[in-house]
Amino acid sequence: MTLKDKTTVTFYNGLTTIGGPMIEVAYNKSHILFDLGEVYRPELGLSMDDEDYDTLIKYKLIGDVPNFYDPKVTGKEIDTKRWEHAAAFISHLHLDHSKALNLLAPEIPLYAGPITAHLLLALNEKGDFLLPAAGHEKGYTRPIISAEYKKPIQVGDITMEVWPSDHDAYGATGLIVKTPDKKISFTGDVRLHGYHPDWVHEFLAAAKGSDMFIIEGTGVSWPERKNEEQSEEFTGIKNEVELTEEVVRLQNDNPKRQITFNTYPTNVERLLRIISDSPRKVVLHAQRAHLIKESLNEDYPYYYLPGEGKFADLKPELEIAYSDLLDDDHKYLWQTVGDCDSLQKGGLYIHSNAEPLGDFDPAYKPFVENFAKHDIEFKALRCSGHADEKELKQIISEVQPAILVPVHTLHPELEENPYGERILPKRGQVVTL
Ligand SMILES: [Zn+2]
Repeated sequence: MTLKDKTTVTFYNGLTTIGGPMIEVAYNKSHILFDLGEVYRPELGLSMDDEDYDTLIKYKLIGDVPNFYDPKVTGKEIDTKRWEHAAAFISHLHLDHSKALNLLAPEIPLYAGPITAHLLLALNEKGDFLLPAAGHEKGYTRPIISAEYKKPIQVGDITMEVWPSDHDAYGATGLIVKTPDKKISFTGDVRLHGYHPDWVHEFLAAAKGSDMFIIEGTGVSWPERKNEEQSEEFTGIKNEVELTEEVVRLQNDNPKRQITFNTYPTNVERLLRIISDSPRKVVLHAQRAHLIKESLNEDYPYYYLPGEGKFADLKPELEIAYSDLLDDDHKYLWQTVGDCDSLQKGGLYIHSNAEPLGDFDPAYKPFVENFAKHDIEFKALRCSGHADEKELKQIISEVQPAILVPVHTLHPELEENPYGERILPKRGQVVTL
């Protein structure tokens, strides 16, 4: 049997787990792979040093994908006679979509949206974000080509288009793949309640009528929680705009109270909105200010904790003394990074999807309790990066695909396709279109 001149899609990983999708589209002698993440399994207790190739394969943290990984990593040569054209793509910078990108063979071009491409370099500066590349120093990140949005990228017989989308990772994108006879679209991670639902709708309009639509389904992963949704810390926040408004309201309602906060590093847009809308002056920890400077070349007020090393790229005139922040109760909204013992009693701390992320992390409960112990109000302001069940239905209705493939979810069977077929592939399964 030959697969020549037919489009095939192979599902290597990330199907019934949240994160780590690895999918190959092939046509004749051309093939592409997306994404290059690692499934997040904190319960294995693996450190980055334990994560050699065999371990990653053994625990299904990455897909066993032939002809894409660096032979120095796998010990297996790439069959360049069979495959004359190859490329890879990552949809956004979350680790479950990007952590394994250094494992890609150096000669295979890797594409990402411009923001993802720039931020990853800054995030992996110390080599503690991505898995290491064979034969390189720690902190090395292989070249990532910054793709121009919506502009076709030719990979032999295949074209890829990178579309701006919306997720709680800054610069998240979706992908549209065209082979000579088929159109395949991939959402990456997606939601309709972020800052840019208009971008998502535009991407979905371009994906309309796809022969295959590969959609994430994080939002249907916990059917048992459907009715008690977010109950334990439900804050009534429905979208990112309301979240920023709540941060502003808390400042207005507490004119004389120390207020601190933290957010997740890769959710840059939420941070930028908080900075621009806050009545108080927002001060970042130097590490975060450095990340923003590196990736966006923007300067914001910052502070160092006692004894911390200095960043050469931060403007000295923007530094605020840590002691000023500790004494303040009205001027600043500042990012605290865990030095809870030094904060003022009676203060307010806003935990906005920062680490530790939630109950599933053993560090979360003691973290929350520590604030209570110091008489500081702990306020969790969350907004999900993922479409919920209703939004997923909406997204599917805008594309009306011939074949729907739900991935990146604990319950792919809960996503349905009223417009055609649905496939729930097994790991390693090849689907011929
Ligand atoms: Zn994500």
